[in-house]
Amino acid sequence: MSDRFLAGRTALVTGSTSGIGLAIAEALGAAGARVVVNGLGSAEQIEAALAAVRAAGAEDAWLEAADLSDPAAIEAMMQRLGERGAVDIVVNCAGVQHTAPIGEMPAATWDKLIAINLSAAFHTMRLALPGMVARGFGRVVNIASVHGLVASVNKSPYVASKFGLVGLSKVAALECAGAGSRDSGGVTVNCVCPGWVETPLIEPQIAARAAEHGGDRDAGVRALLAEKQPSGRMSLPSDIAATVLFLCRREAHNLTGAAVPVDGGWTSQ
Ligand code: NAD
Repeated sequence: MSDRFLAGRTALVTGSTSGIGLAIAEALGAAGARVVVNGLGSAEQIEAALAAVRAAGAEDAWLEAADLSDPAAIEAMMQRLGERGAVDIVVNCAGVQHTAPIGEMPAATWDKLIAINLSAAFHTMRLALPGMVARGFGRVVNIASVHGLVASVNKSPYVASKFGLVGLSKVAALECAGAGSRDSGGVTVNCVCPGWVETPLIEPQIAARAAEHGGDRDAGVRALLAEKQPSGRMSLPSDIAATVLFLCRREAHNLTGAAVPVDGGWTSQ
């Protein structure tokens, strides 16, 4: 609460009813931003997310419940936000996962993952970036994954969507690089690329490993980490949020087009 460097700014965080997105929404709120929460969930889950963001210190927080698999819903959401004022920060965090070998991956699952994990970010960016460029300040942070940098088996649409998100972000970073000034903070577009983070998204993968260890969840977590993440530690959602918060600072005006790994050494191997 001490450094409210985002006072007066408005931030949209997609996928912020749960996990990493919720932690990012709380961190931006604690830094003084007005926070637009987006995501799916029960009425109780959504109310709890809004309450958490307000309790963290957000100047204001409200829900935009757009289903991000629907481009028309994204467009309507961005239009409503534009009518309320400038959107200074967009964090594209909504994401879904499905694991299966490519021959068994349902075609509809491919379409859904690409729509939510990749196309939704294109739509929020194409609608938000022109305003950011005109004002000379803006931040887009796309939550990709180590799977935007390296592949793993059984994740064809997920890896394709995350590699796509890294490429899309680099194009946008180049197109916006000259906007604004050092004083205004410029317009930057970056990806954060987490390794394993303790959220509901990865529970099915933990459960699968746990089943191989007599149902012991801790053993399942250890097995999952041992495969790829040399630190042997999962990140907390708040650890990822801390990196996002740094990218939103004025001092990060020249940090653009990057894909920042937060992966315990995974992609250094
Ligand atoms: P999570 O399941 O806890 O949260 C996902 C969020 O996306 C939820 O708020 C959900 O409601 C929202 N969402 C899903 N489909 C949506 C839709 N159609 N419209 C609107 N919102 C929708 O997962 P998480 O682990 O917090 O994942 C957040 C992001 O981080 C994802 O993009 C994921 O790929 C990425 N990521 C997670 C990990 C990890 O280990 N957990 C690692 C690397 C990257």
